[in-house]
Amino acid sequence: MSVGVVRETTEGERRVALVPKVVSTLVSKGVDVVVESGAGLGALIPDELYVDAGARIGDPYSADVVVKVAAPTDDEVSRLRSGQTLIGFLNPRNERNQIPALKSAGVQAFAVEAIPRISRAQAMDALSSQANVAGYKSVIVAADESTRFFPMLTTAAGTVKPATVLVLGVGVAGLQALATAKRLGARTTGYDVRPEVAEQVRSVGAQWLDLGIDAAGEGGYARELTADERAKQQQALEDAIKGFDVVITTALVPGRPAPRLVTAAAVEGMKPGSVVVDLAGETGGNCELTEPGKTVVVHDVTIASPLNLPATMPEHASELYAKNLYALIDLMLGEDGAITPDFSDEVLAASCVTREEGTA
Ligand code: NAD
Repeated sequence: MSVGVVRETTEGERRVALVPKVVSTLVSKGVDVVVESGAGLGALIPDELYVDAGARIGDPYSADVVVKVAAPTDDEVSRLRSGQTLIGFLNPRNERNQIPALKSAGVQAFAVEAIPRISRAQAMDALSSQANVAGYKSVIVAADESTRFFPMLTTAAGTVKPATVLVLGVGVAGLQALATAKRLGARTTGYDVRPEVAEQVRSVGAQWLDLGIDAAGEGGYARELTADERAKQQQALEDAIKGFDVVITTALVPGRPAPRLVTAAAVEGMKPGSVVVDLAGETGGNCELTEPGKTVVVHDVTIASPLNLPATMPEHASELYAKNLYALIDLMLGEDGAITPDFSDEVLAASCVTREEGTA
């Protein structure tokens, strides 16, 4: 069985699907790993390190299983052939994804976004590993944009109060943002519409902001708010946000535009020099003034909406992603060393988005 590692072509994508450490584990299991020349360069991994790990440099599209990070481009889809397996982020919830094209090409494709969020699948959970990177980096971006210190400083020239950081939407990214801001010395507060998150927020030393809205949906995700709930939430947040130096937003509802949490009026109420970092830019943003992919300053408040933050930390993001992919590939490896996914396994059944008719 062979696995091909593609050189990513999407603009700004510096991650690579497999790192040498994971390649050597696959090779020790008898897997032939083919790496496209330069595949690791964005993550500062030269071809030689892949060769040292037991891979060969060649055409990744000649392999049985092709592994990627970003969703394939038209050109990449055209290089795949019938009977091949593709694993990567495939945007299953985005209408303009390549899944129909993969299906008509006869490719068996697994979307890592569709791996169920269950304990047994944690090692394969690429959404979580990359959300951890994004949550961490969002705080670094906020600290960089801020005109104030995060920690309390006691100096001969006087004492500086710690920054106050509010995180809206406390899933994996939000929890990591709270923990990172706390480590930098900020006073932290978390808010979410799923009440069970309160305990997790407190476990990372943050206060819980309770607005009395329960919008827990299915599978641990939030549901979309009703118009009344949304108006109540926006008003309550407008009042709360005034008191914070930094607001980091990560709120998402699967398959829906990002919920609008921070209104223009709320931004206007913030102190000059405050910062909003909006991680939901890819689905429209949680802040009314967000311009996805840009940093804008309105009323002396900086609103940053960086896209694909995990790609800005390609070394660790790739390492974690590669471990996720290894766990998924290992689940599909039969005793004969071939890829034989057992579709009675809920992880494989849920993550497989195209497969040949009639496979078990
Ligand atoms: P996500 O990225 O889909 O959403 C981020 C957060 O935004 C969520 O906490 C959501 O409740 C919140 N949100 C949505 N609408 C909001 C609104 N209007 N106002 C405020 N907050 C809003 O979430 P995620 O990080 O992918 O996590 C989703 C779920 O999966 C969580 O319950 C998480 O604990 C769970 N999870 C479980 C496992 C596991 O057990 N293996 C692993 C990872 C995540």
